[in-house]
Amino acid sequence: MADISFTHPEPPPASSRVWPVFLPFAGCPYRCLFCAQDKQTGQGTAELASIFRDLELDLEQARVAGRGPYELAFYGGTFTALPVPWPERFLGLAVRFREQGLVTRVRCSTRPDCVDAALLSRLKAQGLDMVELGVQSFDDAILRASGRGYDGVTARRGCMAVQESGMGLGIQLLPGLPGDRPGVFQEDARLAAALKPEVARLYPCLVIRGTPLAAMWEQGDYAPWTLDRTREELALGLLSLWDTGVRVIRLGLPPEGTLAEHILAGPWHPALGQSVRGLALLEIVRTQVENAGFTPTAMDVPRRYQGELFGHANELAEKYAALGLGAGAVRYVDSTVFTVR
Ligand code: SF4
Repeated sequence: MADISFTHPEPPPASSRVWPVFLPFAGCPYRCLFCAQDKQTGQGTAELASIFRDLELDLEQARVAGRGPYELAFYGGTFTALPVPWPERFLGLAVRFREQGLVTRVRCSTRPDCVDAALLSRLKAQGLDMVELGVQSFDDAILRASGRGYDGVTARRGCMAVQESGMGLGIQLLPGLPGDRPGVFQEDARLAAALKPEVARLYPCLVIRGTPLAAMWEQGDYAPWTLDRTREELALGLLSLWDTGVRVIRLGLPPEGTLAEHILAGPWHPALGQSVRGLALLEIVRTQVENAGFTPTAMDVPRRYQGELFGHANELAEKYAALGLGAGAVRYVDSTVFTVR
């Protein structure tokens, strides 16, 4: 019986610090069924001119204080559809602080039906480096039932247009939307993985007060995913994405702004990310043990996974014990390699 050794498939994290600039609903053609950017960001809609002024002052203060450098990220709206001249003005501001060393990279979020080759090439020339697309799903029925206004082909085309522009691509998926059926999210995760974006975010659908989805839920026309299903689906989706080298930079909405007090239903948990990552790691270990064909008695685990091996609040301890790997069988080591023996 030989030891088995393996490494974790997750790509290394990025080293840059992100400076988020929230533009809630700015440029959006309409408010989507599920979206509550104002509650997620804790910011109401504000005039772009006042956001611009505040940002300029804050960047200048950071520069004078010698802070940074930062990756500037315009989130919360549809950046590529902002009214003229705002994309150019925001990018011009970023370029000014880039020349002074405070900003290293600029990214934005937008919709897959609000990008095309000519627009992307113009924005790139103005200083944009990366585009995160709120794809949500590649499934036509889900996109239709969720009123997104585009189909799966458009979603894929948008992703490819960003890649062909030479900018970095981010894909955001929103599992559990109206129109969902078993298996669709795993197919969405596989399609996203095949596109090999630089990053992905997975935001399971929540029912947030004040959204049209909340009205559907109240009338019994929509049921969100359970937390257990969400953990299992996200863990498998995570494995698909890691498999093609995609960094998954967010699992579930962060508890920012006034979000928590406005969630009416849905799979929200403050430690969802840790729980999902732990479950994905369990799958990796289980597969290795099954392939090895022996019952293990000990495992060396890289120290950086100490906080997630047994999941949130030790929820996976019994599952590891069933594999023969109780807490006493695990040793944390200064290595990047897992060894099971
Ligand atoms: S989901 Fe995106 S496009 Fe829709 S309202 Fe929210 S920010 Fe705008």
